[in-house]
Amino acid sequence: MFIGIDIGGTTIKGVLTDRHGDVLSFGKTPIGRTAPEIENGLLELIRSLSGSLGPKASTLKAIGVGSAGSIDKKRGMVLKSPNIPALQRLPLVKTIERHTGVRAFLENDATVAVIGEWWKGAGKKYSNWIMLTLGTGIGGGVVIGNRIYTGQTGNAMEVGHMSIDYRGRRCPCGSTGCLELYASATGLMRYARGILGQGSGSSLEARMRDKKLDPRMIEEEALRGDPLSMHIYTQVSTWLGMGVANLVNLFNPQAIVFAGGLSRAHRLIFPVVKKVVHERAMEGLDKGIRYLVIQDHEKTPALGAARVAMDSIKN
Ligand SMILES: [Zn+2]
Repeated sequence: MFIGIDIGGTTIKGVLTDRHGDVLSFGKTPIGRTAPEIENGLLELIRSLSGSLGPKASTLKAIGVGSAGSIDKKRGMVLKSPNIPALQRLPLVKTIERHTGVRAFLENDATVAVIGEWWKGAGKKYSNWIMLTLGTGIGGGVVIGNRIYTGQTGNAMEVGHMSIDYRGRRCPCGSTGCLELYASATGLMRYARGILGQGSGSSLEARMRDKKLDPRMIEEEALRGDPLSMHIYTQVSTWLGMGVANLVNLFNPQAIVFAGGLSRAHRLIFPVVKKVVHERAMEGLDKGIRYLVIQDHEKTPALGAARVAMDSIKN
């Protein structure tokens, strides 16, 4: 048995799985704001997952953790996480090992999503494909010849920091015009806030009076035909399409799998992305590409983390 944990910007999710990837138990908890809150939430989730093993608790072999931010696998901690500052420098792996008595392993969140999909999702059907995680930022992964390509130090496919505008907005990474500044959930919200409140008569503005604006609300209004909400998604998808066109030119993939909260709005995003890719990628390269959504938003990345743990104790 293995536990896989997926630490995202708002929630920690976890699965208990066997070595075939059959999920026996699933749970989630909101991520805390302070370091002790994060640690407690994480350990509580692990306890409840392993608790479902009952008397077979000793069959738990290892725990894999996928986390947002730049990570140090050897030391088992997140070095930098602009979206969850309290996570920085927390000795995640040591804490888990001390409390559970089993070995733990840390991996990047985009990588565990790719591994999960490669193991139990679309990856079973394709050998050359890309994954893009559209969340607070944009992460990515690539499978080439049925192998996950991670680069020299495990940091390949920092898709979010592919520039689409050299004179664009400044990015904390040091570059300008990075894709995630425009086409992540954060980028979408920034663009929406910039154009809302100008008395457009949009149904979105009416809803904002009672509730805090979020990407889901914009999606709902766009699907109801609100012109301003539709415009927001079209604009953000156009920017995303520019990034995807670059990737299509580089990798000539069979499929592109979208993950992350924003990918739930695929009905709005895909048609625009496909059009932009058709216009911008090299002639013929866009033919036959399948645009897919991650098989299971909730469990796939955590399953990938469990697989990391499984492969790590073998080595
Ligand atoms: Zn950047």
